[in-house]
Amino acid sequence: MKAVVIGTGLESLASALHLRALGHDVDVLEAGSEPGGGAYSLRVHGHSVAAAPCSISEPWLFDGLFALFKERRPDFVEFIPSNPYRRNLYPDGTHLDIVSSIEQQEDEIARISPEDATRYRAFLKHCEQLYETERADVHAGCRMTTRDILRNLSMPQVSLSSLWRLTGRYFVDRRVRQAFSWHSLSLGESPLIASARYAAVHAVERREGVWSVRGGMPALMKELVALGMRHGVRFYYDHQVVSFSQDGAGRVSSIYSAHQGERVVIRCDLVISGGDSRTLSHVLRDDQWSSLERAYLRSTAPSVGMYWLFLKTKRSHLEVPDTTIIHAQRWEGLLSQICKGTRLPKDPTFAVHRVPSLANGGARDEGEMFSVFVPVPPLARYAGWKFDGLGFKDTIVTTLRETLMPGLSTQLVFSEAVDPRHMREILGGALGGADLDAQRVSPISHYRMRAISNLFLCGGGRQGILGISGSFMSASALAEVIGKEFPTNYPGERLDDIAARSVA
Ligand SMILES: Cc1cc2nc3c(=O)[nH]c(=O)nc-3n(C[C@H](O)[C@H](O)[C@H](O)COP(=O)(O)OP(=O)(O)OC[C@H]3O[C@@H](n4cnc5c(N)ncnc54)[C@H](O)[C@@H]3O)c2cc1C
Repeated sequence: MKAVVIGTGLESLASALHLRALGHDVDVLEAGSEPGGGAYSLRVHGHSVAAAPCSISEPWLFDGLFALFKERRPDFVEFIPSNPYRRNLYPDGTHLDIVSSIEQQEDEIARISPEDATRYRAFLKHCEQLYETERADVHAGCRMTTRDILRNLSMPQVSLSSLWRLTGRYFVDRRVRQAFSWHSLSLGESPLIASARYAAVHAVERREGVWSVRGGMPALMKELVALGMRHGVRFYYDHQVVSFSQDGAGRVSSIYSAHQGERVVIRCDLVISGGDSRTLSHVLRDDQWSSLERAYLRSTAPSVGMYWLFLKTKRSHLEVPDTTIIHAQRWEGLLSQICKGTRLPKDPTFAVHRVPSLANGGARDEGEMFSVFVPVPPLARYAGWKFDGLGFKDTIVTTLRETLMPGLSTQLVFSEAVDPRHMREILGGALGGADLDAQRVSPISHYRMRAISNLFLCGGGRQGILGISGSFMSASALAEVIGKEFPTNYPGERLDDIAARSVA
């Protein structure tokens, strides 16, 4: 059976691998010139660096993809445990680390707020409950139910229980609340309005740790694509899917993509679309959406803009943790400026991530690379980058020098900024930000279109708050549905034979 997967975001990639493992003949069409989607990599002074996710929290999910083909993930890509997971640095000079054991975490909180330390376990229990709900939701199926819609109504804008409120139920010290409210901001949503569901991410990191990838996310993407290619998945880049044609039963029978000014037709029996709903709304005709789908799958909501600064330093910074959040003095005011403001903040809050070198043990003698993620107002609100871009970059470098890396100015090999205008070009998002629109309004992670029984939607950020972990869980749940309903009779080489050969 011929399956076409649209997009090479993490969920599309995982879906393509699952379908191949089920025995389908799989073609992947990607609009961009490189794989990754939200995990896109940029070339910065000859280095390949990720312009979004920097850490993973459930390594076994990746191991599972390699195991589908009887291969071992550690043979191809190395994950490095982080401890602390994150350091939160506050303007008063204090810090709070998120660390790898419950007892140490309590001690760490007690260092700055003894009262809050006694409530940490109760907070963690709440996070775990939220995580279980998220997991159950991912596996709940791929039709929208009333429950999904009701759950959706309790999401962001109308949420009675935001992440910030949730942390306020357990902690009194602002710094502790800020530390446990960071997750939503790291994905582009203000904790003041983001759903409390984001707290589930803390349960995942507590159970499974936080890991970075040797060589950064691009190295991982490369290996996932290579895994697919070793086992017969075909990847086509610069192929923007523009329309479908249907057979008499209303199923998609062919896909049309635009490639270098040409229109390419690909016959198919099954389609998984990993692009966001907004993109798909250009591909499907109006009458191909039910009213429910139109309301819940096509609507969008803005997220914050994404600004990245990539730095290379002359010397290594062993004293700097893998991830450090630099918190500004302001919080509520700053967050509202980031979401609704029409000016750039003078006191940004941001995350500094070490990019693990490809060389084993790190090429730290030759300096290190860091990527700095700064949430900024979306392009719809602020578009003055042409004039203010340089000044903003100076603000970040100055803040870094004053907080985390004294002497940075003399140690910089290069610094290169990517502002929301470029993110719009790269990711196609109109807002120049995290393409979270779908995740904020779509009630389910993967979906089977009502009127087109062989068209499934996944990815596009729809998997929501669990990020990459959510993508992979969703892809495997979707593969279960497809495995049952679309048994393959692909006449090509049997997967077992290919796997056996690659092991030999
Ligand atoms: C700032 C930021 C930081 C993050 N950090 C983390 C983190 O540390 N850990 C974590 O777990 N998660 C993190 N995430 C979340 C993670 O990046 C996403 O969950 C994941 O990348 C989403 O993948 P996806 O498969 O859903 O879709 P996407 O990445 O959105 O991919 C969709 C793909 O489909 C392609 N496409 C769309 N339409 C078409 C078409 N018509 N034809 C052909 N191709 C098409 C696009 O080009 C794209 O490649 C972060 C996200 C952001 C924004």
